[in-house]
Amino acid sequence: MKFHLEASFRLSADADKAEAAISDFFKSAGPILQKGAPLGQGAKIVAWKLAGSKIDLVIDSDRFVRAHDALLRLRRPLSELLGKEFRIGVRGMDISKFEIAVESERAINHKIPYVREIKFEDGWLLLSLDVGPEGTLGQSEMENRIPDRIISLLEDKLQSGYGGKTEHWELLWESSARPPKFTSDPTEEMQKAGWIKHGSSRGQWIYGPQATHVFRTFEKIVLEEIIQPLGYREMIFPKLDTWDVWKKSGHAQGVYPEIYFVCPPKTRDPAFWEEVMDYYKITHEVPLELVKEKIDLPIGGMCYAQCPTFWGFLQGMTLPRDELPITVFDRSGTSHRYESGGIHGIERVDEFHRIEIVWLGSKEQVLEEAEKLKACYKHIFEDILELHWRTAWVTPWFMAQEGKTGLAEMSGAGTVDYEAVLPYNGNWIEFQNLSVNGEKYPKGFTVKSQSGEALWSGCSGVGLERWASAFLSQKGLDPANWPVEFQKRIGEMPKGIRFL
Ligand code: ATP
Ligand code: ZN
Ligand code: MG
Repeated sequence: MKFHLEASFRLSADADKAEAAISDFFKSAGPILQKGAPLGQGAKIVAWKLAGSKIDLVIDSDRFVRAHDALLRLRRPLSELLGKEFRIGVRGMDISKFEIAVESERAINHKIPYVREIKFEDGWLLLSLDVGPEGTLGQSEMENRIPDRIISLLEDKLQSGYGGKTEHWELLWESSARPPKFTSDPTEEMQKAGWIKHGSSRGQWIYGPQATHVFRTFEKIVLEEIIQPLGYREMIFPKLDTWDVWKKSGHAQGVYPEIYFVCPPKTRDPAFWEEVMDYYKITHEVPLELVKEKIDLPIGGMCYAQCPTFWGFLQGMTLPRDELPITVFDRSGTSHRYESGGIHGIERVDEFHRIEIVWLGSKEQVLEEAEKLKACYKHIFEDILELHWRTAWVTPWFMAQEGKTGLAEMSGAGTVDYEAVLPYNGNWIEFQNLSVNGEKYPKGFTVKSQSGEALWSGCSGVGLERWASAFLSQKGLDPANWPVEFQKRIGEMPKGIRFL
């Protein structure tokens, strides 16, 4: 990585009388420009010139002391020198040229903020930043570390390749290979049996009484085996997530291709919408282009991960010690994802139902709670649902979301996926997961503990469609084949709706 920066310090007065002192200062600036870098590395001033009330500088550097850092480092000692001896102030900095070269095997062809041009030549990406009088990158952007963010972004991209994120997956535990009672596709069978029908939206289903009863029985099991014994309190989390929430949760970094965006009307004045209404009344078509003109920018999207909106309840607060751990759950609404082509049956849907379990406390409390939950889940999948299932240690969702792979730097944090085999095609699906998210959420939403100790949190999403896929694909739709413990809990199946 190489940096080339041309900049100037703006002074409060003509500094001719200080020229010798400035010259000495730059000659002996080595230690400032190389501090922290390996011997012989760092930044160098390749040229400088005093021109009345400004000092022009050219700085070249490597990755160890980036040129913009070097410039920022020079500012204070220079101010001290000119202020004390000559009563001249350093007013600010102007950037006239800033070029960064990064080794790369490929080009990057889309626009990056503050970058005027990116060229790819001989294994180098050559960036010229948008500086100068008309440019967007000036002193405050330098001070706010924008160049460093551009570099981290490039490094992430070059490491991960084109969206080809390789996720970590490591088997933790596998149940006995319980022989399946059923080998068909449960979605097809449920459709034939009239348990479910396609909704009118993509990846959406209408669940009839029988399927709904199965879902509610799963919920009842979660309530009786987890929520009640472990003392979780029910809450209702909002189901429309604003950008502000996703900025704090980290989803704003990468969630875009998968969300259903939410746009409010530009105004709720009926007169503004009259043309749309009239058009519909006459043509019986909704004039979508016209609607598009009359709706505002998206304020966020529909619930994607369920727990981010919970954190607004704690945002900016300090929690008393004896309130921890806090253990809550939500089952108040749907989650929505614009899934990719692989949509199949109820296994991968755009609208789904989940119970989200959230806990927070000290690191020890959060890890202990995670173990309690894992024990409860194991009991459910082994003794009540009798699944052929396994758990795996995977790239934490929040790292996958942010386009990073590997395990969390916070040791102890991470995600366990719960997977079940689908006998009809031999694939394993993730039917739920459990994540210890480290300090991510408490930090993102500035939640503190009275003791001053770091707060950790965890969450676990129980996907009802996925539980149904796992269970019904292994056991089928005939209650006679269901495990006794499940039969006890489901009681009598409701009658379905008959058609002529
Ligand atoms: P997958 O890799 O299968 O897409 P994911 O990693 O996107 O899953 P998470 O973001 O971890 O899933 O979501 C947590 C839980 O929410 C999943 O374990 C699953 O139960 C449920 N879930 C996620 N996406 C869907 C979907 N499209 N349809 C049904 N359930 C889903
Ligand atoms: Zn969550
Ligand atoms: Mg997914």
